Amino acid sequence: MAMVYCRDCGARHSDRAKACPKCGRAVCNTDKSALVYALLAFFLGMWGVHKFYAGRTGEGVAMLLMGTIGWALIIPGIIVCIWAFVDFIVGLVNMNAPEKIFKK
Ligand SMILES: [Zn+2]
Repeated sequence: MAMVYCRDCGARHSDRAKACPKCGRAVCNTDKSALVYALLAFFLGMWGVHKFYAGRTGEGVAMLLMGTIGWALIIPGIIVCIWAFVDFIVGLVNMNAPEKIFKK
């Protein structure tokens, strides 16, 4: 067990705590970066690479299928491009709140 600092109020608490005991902010135990997530979504998002990075395997597989064989039907390919771009924006917006992106 390690002690970590709350990103919001700076209080020390266990890294196993689900929320900061002082301010109640949800604790993110990941050291993954929302910026990396956003960049993966931008450059490799069509194949769901950022979803695998975030631990969301199901969504990753769905995007991978849509971004490969989905192009045979055109529409799924276009949808997955828009989806990946939205994820890119979500990653940028949540740069300081990675717990919203990454599965624990
Ligand atoms: Zn706090």
